[in-house]
Amino acid sequence: MIDRQKEYWFAFEPYIHITWKPECALIYNTLDGNHLIVTDKAVLALLAEMVKPENCGVIQIMPFHWENENLANLLEKSRELFFADLYECGLSKGKPIQFHPILNLQEDVKRLQKLSPEHTGAKMFSYLYEIAIETEGLTDNQLNSYLDTLWLQIRYSGLKQLRILPGSKEQSVLIRSYLMGKEYPAEKIVWQLNPTLAIEVMDVLKESVCICIDNFSSGIPNIESSTVKWIFKVRSEEELSIVSEWIETRSISRYQIESVYDGKNLDFFEKFVYLNEEDLFSQPISMQSIMRNQVLNSNDFGKFHITSDGAVYSNKLLSPIGNLYTDSIRQLVQKEMTEGNSWLRIRNQEPCKRCIYQWLCPSPSDYELKIGKPNLCHIHRTE
Ligand code: SF4
Repeated sequence: MIDRQKEYWFAFEPYIHITWKPECALIYNTLDGNHLIVTDKAVLALLAEMVKPENCGVIQIMPFHWENENLANLLEKSRELFFADLYECGLSKGKPIQFHPILNLQEDVKRLQKLSPEHTGAKMFSYLYEIAIETEGLTDNQLNSYLDTLWLQIRYSGLKQLRILPGSKEQSVLIRSYLMGKEYPAEKIVWQLNPTLAIEVMDVLKESVCICIDNFSSGIPNIESSTVKWIFKVRSEEELSIVSEWIETRSISRYQIESVYDGKNLDFFEKFVYLNEEDLFSQPISMQSIMRNQVLNSNDFGKFHITSDGAVYSNKLLSPIGNLYTDSIRQLVQKEMTEGNSWLRIRNQEPCKRCIYQWLCPSPSDYELKIGKPNLCHIHRTE
């Protein structure tokens, strides 16, 4: 029982995330997605104190705090929802300590920014998750030289995934025999093919295969394989319903539906891709995701894409950051980690930086770049 004449420590639980903006704040429970939105000035002032680093989410509540009805409501509601608790000051020796998670990567980025590129060590590769390679247009000799250069750079990197986008059946066969004669440079190899190429080479390939369907007029190829994952690129409601029918009639379990912006289908995006509050709160968002969203772009982080001419991209829609033949991949990782426009692209721009959902929203995707709008949402929760 709380005695309002006594002094208490008010502490939020470590699983509570607070987004504070001058006119509005969000108190979010990362375990169950329950949340409170605060706009009252006195409550905002109290929360402002709590989120100061030196207070670590704990402040002292004095008898006068209860005289403000909105403050009293917040204190009671926070306890009722298991967001926070009150600890009698007289019963504790000092201020309780509250440990809040810190993302190591934030420290890593700061440390790397102080180092010159020559001092980057093998640890750089630990940030690299996937390399996708496009080989279209290369002759056999050029392809061999491309693969040799790549292997030399990444064979001991501990790369998690190598995604191969061959340009033809002949290239697929050549790359496959190259793979057979070498140690795999990544834990997993994935082939990404168009349907025509898939029909021609499926029997030759031993690794995982993604088949990308971008054109719906010729139907879905009759390929039955447990290793296949389907990627459906849809531009309209019509294409979406075709895909839904295929998935159902063919009992497809491994698939991904990607919306494609073609400059004319903004309506489709507004209806199916733009975020609303219902989507945002449809399931709890973990503390790890919220912390991650403040530091890195979870769509792009750890991924490089290398085109046939050796150009290395951290995002295909942006300028290349280097070249396979002239740069060290390890140093390109360091470059992207410290000054990158892609891996570190977060919601720190208008209007997101004034929104209480800034770090709950998923990282900016390619759609924001293609549509040329930083916030693809129907939400207006800015200060
Ligand atoms: S304004 Fe930005 S942060 Fe806010 S809901 Fe929209 S996309 Fe998310």
